[in-house]
Amino acid sequence: MKNIAVIGAGTMGNGIAHTFAQSGYNVQLIDISQDSLDKGLATITKNLDRMIAKERITELDKQSTLDNISSFTDITQGVKNASLVVEAATENVDLKLKIFKQLDEICDAQTILATNTSSISITQIAAVTSRPGKVIGMHFMNPVPIMKLVEIIRGYDTSDDVTTTIMELSKKLGKIPTEVNDYPGFVANRILMPMINESIETLYNGVAGVSEIDTVMKLGMAHPMGPLQLADFIGLDVCLSILNVMYDGFKNPKYAPCPLLVNMVRAGKLGVKSGEGFYDYSESRKAEKVAKQFIK
Ligand code: NAD
Repeated sequence: MKNIAVIGAGTMGNGIAHTFAQSGYNVQLIDISQDSLDKGLATITKNLDRMIAKERITELDKQSTLDNISSFTDITQGVKNASLVVEAATENVDLKLKIFKQLDEICDAQTILATNTSSISITQIAAVTSRPGKVIGMHFMNPVPIMKLVEIIRGYDTSDDVTTTIMELSKKLGKIPTEVNDYPGFVANRILMPMINESIETLYNGVAGVSEIDTVMKLGMAHPMGPLQLADFIGLDVCLSILNVMYDGFKNPKYAPCPLLVNMVRAGKLGVKSGEGFYDYSESRKAEKVAKQFIK
C-alpha cells in the first residue's frame, strides 16, 4: 500500500494526511473547498514546524512529509491509483452515503474504503457500495499526529482480511489500533459524548461556569483537558451530530443534546475552528469566554 487518498482537509483530514505522509505514504488530499485545502496544508506546515521546535523531527523530515502530499478539488482525479481511501468529510449521513456511492463507482475494485466517522453506522455506509466487505471504520483521534489510538470499526460485512490489513497499517503509522463493533458512537464517543453533554447541561443549569467545570474534571479526575475545552477542540457541530446519531440509534433520551449545545451550533459558535465556543480563541487561545447569555 503506497497511495492513500484522504477526503476532507478539515480538523481530522489534515491530521490524517500529515500522519500518512510523515510515515512515507503518498497522500492525495481531496476537499471540495480550495480554501479548506489551503488551510489544511497551512496547519500541517505549522504542526511540522512545532515538531521541529521540539526536536522530534528534522527540517528534512518536514520537507519530505510536505512533498508526499498532493491536493485535489476533484474527487475522481484525487482517488486515482489509491489502494486506500480514508473519508474524513463533514459528519453528515447523507453526505457520507453520497461520497461512498461515488467512491464505489470511481475506485479500483480492490481499493479499501475507510471512514473516519465518529458515530455513523459503517454497515449503513457499506450498504450503498458493491463492496461491503472492503468498507471499514478507521476512527483517528484529534490531534491525529499526536494521539495513539485508532478505533477500528468492523461493519456487519467487513472481511477479516480487510480488518487485518487496516490493523497492521495503523501500527505502521505508529498507532495502537483497537477493534470494536458497529453500534452508534462505537466505544469512544458512546462514553465520551454523554460526559461532554452532561458538562454542557451543568453549565446550562447554572451549576458552575466554564472554567469551574473544566477545573473540576482536570484536577479532580486527572483529565488532561476539561470536557468543555475538549468539546471546543472536537467542534461543537461534530459533538451535536454524534449525539443526534446516538439519540436516533438507541431511541434513548439520555443522548438528547443539551439545548445550549444546539443554540451555540445555530449561532455558529463551533469552538476552535470558528474562533469561539466555550472559550474565545480569537485573540488569545487562553482567554476564557463564559457563554453567559445562553445560561438558563
Ligand atoms: P471539519 O468540519 O473540520 O472538516 C470537514 C471537511 O470536509 C471540510 O473541509 C469540508 O470542506 C470537507 N467536505 C465536505 N464535503 C465534502 C465532499 N463532498 N468532498 C470532500 N470534502 C468535503 O470536520 P472534522 O472535524 O475534520 O470531521 C471530519 C470527520 O471526522 C467527521 O466524520 C467527524 O465525525 C470525524 N471525527 C472528528 C473528530 C474531531 O475531533 N473533530 C474526531 C474524530 C473523528
